[in-house]
Amino acid sequence: MVWLIGALCALAVAGAAYRKRSLTLSGAAAAFVMGTIYFGAGNLLWFGILLVFFVSSSLLSKFKQANKAELEKSYAKTGTRDAGQVFANGGAGMLLCLFHAIWPHSGWIYAFIGVMAAVTADTWATEWGGLSRRPPRSVLTGKIVPPGTSGGVTLMGSSAAAAGGLLIALFGWLFALLSGTDVFWGGLWLAGLTGGLAGAFSDSFLGATVQVMYRCPVCGKDVEVLEHCGQPTRRIRGWRWMNNDAVNFISSCIGGLAAWLLALVV
Ligand SMILES: [Zn+2]
Repeated sequence: MVWLIGALCALAVAGAAYRKRSLTLSGAAAAFVMGTIYFGAGNLLWFGILLVFFVSSSLLSKFKQANKAELEKSYAKTGTRDAGQVFANGGAGMLLCLFHAIWPHSGWIYAFIGVMAAVTADTWATEWGGLSRRPPRSVLTGKIVPPGTSGGVTLMGSSAAAAGGLLIALFGWLFALLSGTDVFWGGLWLAGLTGGLAGAFSDSFLGATVQVMYRCPVCGKDVEVLEHCGQPTRRIRGWRWMNNDAVNFISSCIGGLAAWLLALVV
């Protein structure tokens, strides 16, 4: 019964997101599977947090989209998410949800808050950071880099990352109350903030070091996409498999691990 309710809720959300062009068809299918598992194997806490991440990120992507239209052409992430992006963002949380169903322990929940704080923080940092008037600086060298460069950070982006992490904590606390899940509220806030900042920083760090980057042979720009100006791009650095989705997934795991370790200590 829980699985059936989960499937119906997931179908409604994925369908609405597809119609609003927040998800591609493959993205909607992935979101349906994921939402069903979050609700079926988890409860309102797990499903609700996934929804908060998804709705807040989609709203931010639509917000002032015109400002970023040019930037998005050279950037792997766009407002419309495909299956790869859906699993990159929600995959680690889905595994934690399944682990929690098999071996129930509150540690999984803190790790989950950290994971979702990380992906929310990263999306928020990207969306808000992209609107920053000051140019971003490389997380590695501190030098000014062009807007949209992987590994570029701004104060606005970092503040947005912290806010995104805290939003997940706030809803985590709310959904834990509503679903009668026994967790320590202070641990949730710490997990949200730590997961958010650790995740966003890891994302920038991986972006500046091992993430694959390409160069457009026509306009000469460094981009994250395989095609630019109608021409295939050339790989100039990074590991071939380390695309934006891989970076997102790994950063979310780092955010989850940081939150879990901190919750363990506290
Ligand atoms: Zn180009």
